[in-house]
Amino acid sequence: MATVLIVDDSRTSRNILKSVLEKGGFRVVGEAANGEEGFLKYRELTPDIVTMDITMPVMNGIESLSLIRRENETAKVVMITAAGQKEKMVEAIKRGAEEFITKPFDENEVLATLKRVLG
Ligand SMILES: [Mg+2]
Repeated sequence: MATVLIVDDSRTSRNILKSVLEKGGFRVVGEAANGEEGFLKYRELTPDIVTMDITMPVMNGIESLSLIRRENETAKVVMITAAGQKEKMVEAIKRGAEEFITKPFDENEVLATLKRVLG
């Protein structure tokens, strides 16, 4: 069973994503509410995949993605994006993001994306 770390400052988003992922057969091993906490939990938990929100306090998702990929250049990080974040999506691709999921979450899209990333 693939393990997932959810990084998002919105508790509601984390809860929705968690229930979608668990229904879809993933094991959510941790949650973090900002990019810094996300990076520390990535190190601690070494999940198979990370879902990473972009706009967060303390440290945003793009910076956290960079730290994670510096730690492990094959880390699989899927960015969570909202409408109007095209520039940030381009930046995230440059820094090694594997894929994107758009908010509001579509259950089928979320699961299909993560399965594709895991190969
Ligand atoms: Mg956010």
